[in-house]
Amino acid sequence: MKNLQMVDLIGQYQKVKHEIDEALQRVVESAAFINGPEVKAFAGELAEHTGIQHVIPCANGTDALQVVMMAMGFKPGDEVITTSFTYVATGEVIALLGLTPVLVEVNPETFTIDPDAFERAITPRTVAVVPVHLFGQCADMERVMEIARRHKLRVIEDAAQAIGSEYTFADGAKKKAGAMGDAGCTSFFPSKNLGCYGDGGAIFTDDKDLAESIRRTANHGQTAQYTHDFIGVNSRLDSLQAAVLRVKLRHLDSYTRARQRAAEWYDRAFAGCEGLQVPVRQPGSTHVFHQYTLIVKSGDRQALIDHLAAKHIPSKIYYPIPLHLQAAYRSDRYPEGDLPVSEYLASHVVSLPMHTELSEDDLRYISDQVLAFFANKPKLKDNSVIS
Ligand SMILES: *Cc1c(COP(=O)(O)O)cnc(C)c1O
Repeated sequence: MKNLQMVDLIGQYQKVKHEIDEALQRVVESAAFINGPEVKAFAGELAEHTGIQHVIPCANGTDALQVVMMAMGFKPGDEVITTSFTYVATGEVIALLGLTPVLVEVNPETFTIDPDAFERAITPRTVAVVPVHLFGQCADMERVMEIARRHKLRVIEDAAQAIGSEYTFADGAKKKAGAMGDAGCTSFFPSKNLGCYGDGGAIFTDDKDLAESIRRTANHGQTAQYTHDFIGVNSRLDSLQAAVLRVKLRHLDSYTRARQRAAEWYDRAFAGCEGLQVPVRQPGSTHVFHQYTLIVKSGDRQALIDHLAAKHIPSKIYYPIPLHLQAAYRSDRYPEGDLPVSEYLASHVVSLPMHTELSEDDLRYISDQVLAFFANKPKLKDNSVIS
């Protein structure tokens, strides 16, 4: 049995080693390390893949969210609605800019923003909503866009986990994750579906003026060389990362299919298991399975994690503490128990290994061990096999 991992970046590299090594060598020899032709070429190729007009690469996914909110000109005190059950970055940038994060529930089945909760949270101070396409599928964008347009709110998609996912609207229009709102943000953190070999991120928009102001914001608020009309940040993708990403973008569709095949395997294996809820697909959206996340409906989640660990199977909780219960984000506004769906999910979800290199043997071994836990649970407990 090979060493199972949550993500197998080495196995993935081995298969494209030739292409990657050649690309890295090309950059080193060109010495164009910052804003070189690789970055421009990558932005163009990603724009084409995503079906968007403007792709602005930046240093990471967190910066992408921050730069967009700066470029949109939000003022301290403005309210931005997002979900509590997400990675911290989403709420962090809102708070960092002096805006007020307004945290709402997710749909308990799809883990993405509950449109009714979003609408109820709107006040005269609300300026934007950030739907997070958590774990690799799009939020209910039909309703999110409709509500946002009706209330004249900006929509900033957090597509860090969902690159390549596609959403079909009721009128038949198809859009990629990150290409539906006023702006979309993504991350190229190594373990993301399109990951580089360090940090990286990008912003998507079809709005030419917004694109220009995003570019300037990410480049020190520079309007002409050494001329700064407003305060910006320094956030850029380096050329080595862009070169890696150009190679991996060519393989993204097949990487996505590999993830989807693994998810289908897990789905079939767990279909009859009453203790587990397999990922529920959001109608209208494809799922690119950044994570394969189960709800442990009955039984002890930690005992399952321990059982798997004893069998050398890693698993991980994304995310164990919702934002509104994090010390940094606690406020009287959200006492414990205030967002019961997010709190339930934080204490019941577990993610299994999910990546592009899982073999049928790996998947069979993992799913057999998960099922064995539920089949043998009383016996395992009595015999104290798991501790
Ligand atoms: C990874 C991630 C981010 C942040 O991306 P970084 O590149 O790590 O800064 C933001 N939001 C979500 C949902 C993420 O998963």
